[in-house]
Amino acid sequence: MAANTDDLLRLWEDNQRAHPVQRALQALALAAPVAGGQAWAQAPIGARDRALLRLHEEMFGGELHTTAHCPGCGERLESDFRVGDIVAGSNDGPASALRLQDQDFDVEYRLPTSEDLLQLAAERADAGDEAMRLLRRCVRSALRGGVAVDPGALPEAVIDRIADGMATQDPDADVQVGLACPACGAAWSLRFDIVSHFWSELDDWAQRMLADVHQLASAYGWSERDILALSATRRQAYLEMVAA
Ligand SMILES: [Zn+2]
Repeated sequence: MAANTDDLLRLWEDNQRAHPVQRALQALALAAPVAGGQAWAQAPIGARDRALLRLHEEMFGGELHTTAHCPGCGERLESDFRVGDIVAGSNDGPASALRLQDQDFDVEYRLPTSEDLLQLAAERADAGDEAMRLLRRCVRSALRGGVAVDPGALPEAVIDRIADGMATQDPDADVQVGLACPACGAAWSLRFDIVSHFWSELDDWAQRMLADVHQLASAYGWSERDILALSATRRQAYLEMVAA
C-alpha cells in the first residue's frame, strides 16, 4: 500500500463530513488509485467493495467483526468472519454493458457505480423513487418491439429481471453474512456494509494514533511529524517505555 500514516490521518481528517461513498472513494484513491485503468467512481459497486475489503485486510487484518440482535429472541450476538468468506466476484473492470431480451423487450443497461449513488444522493429529496432513478441512470436503451420506451414504463417483471441481472453480474454489491443464534436456533442473513465498517475502523485507528502522539509528545517533547514518521514497531517500543 502506498499510503503512509500521515496520508491516512489526513484522509480521516478531510472526510469527516463527507458522504460515506465519497469516503470510500477517497480511501481507494489514496491506497489503490485505479480499477482496471479507470477511477473507482466508475467501477461497479461490488468491485469497489472488494477493493475496500482488500484495503481493510492490509490495514486492519482479514478478520471482520459484526454484532447483531437475533430477530427470534433478541439475543445480542457477535460474529467473526474473514474477507475471503464473503467475497464472491472477481471482475474489477469497468461497469460492463449488459442486455436483457424478454419477450418483445430489449434493454441495454450497465451496473450501478459509486458515481450513480453520489448523484442520487445529491438530487432533491422529492426527485422520486430512488430505485427508479437508479434504473434510469443505468438503462442505456429500452426498446419494446423495436420502439424506444421510457425505462420508467417497463413492466415490473422486466425491471425485476434487470435487478436480478445486476445482482448476478456484481454479486459483491450486496454482501450477506449468514448468522445463527446459539440461544434459539434462528438463522438469518445480514447485509455487511464494508463502506461504513472500513470508516469506523479507520476512525478507531486515527483516534488511537492521535492518543499515541499525545503520549509520546508529552513524554519526550517530539513533534507530531517526528512521531508519525516512526515505524509502528518503534512507536510501540517507546510507548512501552513511557508506560513502564
Ligand atoms: Zn435467538
